[in-house]
Amino acid sequence: MAEILSGKPVAAALCEALREETEKMKENGLLPTLCVVRLGEDPSDLAYEKGIMKRAGTVGVQVVNRVLPVDTDADTLAAVLKELSEDDSIHGVLLFRPLPKALRPFETKIIAALDPRKDVDGMTDGSAAGVFLRKPLGFAPCTPSACMEILRYYDIDPAGKHAVVVGRSPVVGRPLSMLLLHKNATVTVCHTRTADLPAMTKQAEILVAAAGCEGMLGEEHIAPGAVVLDVGVNWSETLGRYVGDVRFDEAEAASAVTPVPGGVGAVTTAILLRNVVQAAKNQQENI
Ligand code: NAP
Repeated sequence: MAEILSGKPVAAALCEALREETEKMKENGLLPTLCVVRLGEDPSDLAYEKGIMKRAGTVGVQVVNRVLPVDTDADTLAAVLKELSEDDSIHGVLLFRPLPKALRPFETKIIAALDPRKDVDGMTDGSAAGVFLRKPLGFAPCTPSACMEILRYYDIDPAGKHAVVVGRSPVVGRPLSMLLLHKNATVTVCHTRTADLPAMTKQAEILVAAAGCEGMLGEEHIAPGAVVLDVGVNWSETLGRYVGDVRFDEAEAASAVTPVPGGVGAVTTAILLRNVVQAAKNQQENI
């Protein structure tokens, strides 16, 4: 039976450490502050925002909201990000995405207006360069960082292990493969053009499922003893609940597996807040 790698204690430990850190920062007059930028009233954005505010309050991070009309144009949104980048009272900025359809063609230009030092969600080119070059430019996106934090918390050292990442998106698979490489894993990245997916994933000592396909990985993909991180969050019409990319009941051969929900997703908000605290420290030290 595989060990369940719950995200909840990982998030709790991160939040406890953050609480202690923000206490000390406040004694020095520094209040780490995140600005959440939202366009319109999308229910999933509102739910995420509520979750961030609740958790931020418990760790001593201030959250301010900038709500813009859903039909805001690209120049106006870019100007808001530029203004927040120049505002010394704001340490981190989170722009909810996906953006409204009309803005998507301009996403690159809009995001370029944000200073990577405040890019606590890792969406700028500066942050991507930082991940690639292993330099403190911006931040890695929260989900890959959450995966790495789960491995760290459960004492799973990627060094020397073969990690197979299924998915190569700029927000999950690609940065995660870099973070694993930085920790000295040998990394294989799979995608829709991978010729024989089970042959690849069966080699994994650490298997990351980040494809966004309900239950696409099962017994035939998982090597005995593998650690399985399931990043997928998929709404299952048949089950009427969210499920991962891994058929959980077929992961018995694994040594450990993250559940969905309650695994990787449970850690991402804590990572976001950790990034805000780090951004505040960096900005105070002028990094
Ligand atoms: P995405 O942009 O759609 O990328 C999916 C990636 O998976 C692509 O690289 C795609 O390959 C690959 N892929 C899709 N189907 C595949 C298949 N059948 N075989 C092999 N590769 C396949 O998705 P994403 O934004 O990275 O998100 C991935 C999943 O993570 C989604 O379920 C999303 O909801 C979830 N997610 C979770 C969190 C969290 O906090 N837990 C955060 C963000 C995302 P190609 O490049 O060839 O198209």
